[in-house]
Amino acid sequence: MSQLLAGKTALVLGVANRWSIAYAISAAFVREGASLVLTYQGDRQRQTVEELGSELRAAKVLACDVTNEEELDQLASELKQSTSIVDTMVHSIAFANRDDLSRPYVETSRDGYLLAQEVSSYSLVAVSRAIAPLMTSGGSITTLTYLGSTRVVQNYNVMGVAKAALEASVRYLANDLGPRNIRVNAISAGAIKTASGRAVRNFSKMLEAGPGVAPLRRNTEPAEVADAAVFLASDLGRGVTGNVLFVDAGFHIIGLAFNE
Ligand code: NAD
Repeated sequence: MSQLLAGKTALVLGVANRWSIAYAISAAFVREGASLVLTYQGDRQRQTVEELGSELRAAKVLACDVTNEEELDQLASELKQSTSIVDTMVHSIAFANRDDLSRPYVETSRDGYLLAQEVSSYSLVAVSRAIAPLMTSGGSITTLTYLGSTRVVQNYNVMGVAKAALEASVRYLANDLGPRNIRVNAISAGAIKTASGRAVRNFSKMLEAGPGVAPLRRNTEPAEVADAAVFLASDLGRGVTGNVLFVDAGFHIIGLAFNE
């Protein structure tokens, strides 16, 4: 079968380690023939991401803390010089204070609320503004979200509110960038054991609950999320924009489940 992303340049933000959803997406993009560019958040992550990048034969591994406008500009100008064009970008980034993911939502501090919004939601606007000018042949932007945006998920709290804003941003960005044939979508992934996931108090209970509730009777694999990201990045997804695509073994459709 021909490769779905042959000839495309893919920028993936959000690889921290081998368990990151962004790592699974990067591996699937390379499998499908994309030329890969990775970013790392700061010096602490640099070596790990460079090692993973060389394993995946990434064309480039560049610094990018999404809260730093200078680094975003630098990323865009380095990409302009090296690859000149970007076809697809994945934003797989979120952060909130651990405290805010373990106490009642009503206790959320102003700083904690703003931090979660800045890193987990506003950053999609900032990176889209920086990178969209390089999508001169059209393109695809995909972010990662979670069911906690529209339903109350215990302890997800401030991150659920940030994901609600993120999903609204997906729609506004899709409308803005559509005339340039740039599509913007979110994948709503089921719970997956990653560093970010584990920051949510009692995350292991979410993983334990999944198979008893989800129609497919199991949790979500990173590779399943990655294959959906391939679809959205490829020409097969050319008619899809402003969408939230659930890849969660069907968990989101269930209102109430119990054993009889
Ligand atoms: P992860 O911890 O591996 O990835 C989170 C990434 O965000 C890390 O690479 C981290 O460096 C990056 N990041 C945080 N602050 C940053 C900043 N200021 N600048 C640049 N990068 C920054 O965890 P993950 O689960 O792979 O998370 C990826 C995305 O998937 C997140 O948006 C998360 O909310 C979403 N998601 C995760 C799950 C899950 O259960 N793990 C489910 C649905 C959605």
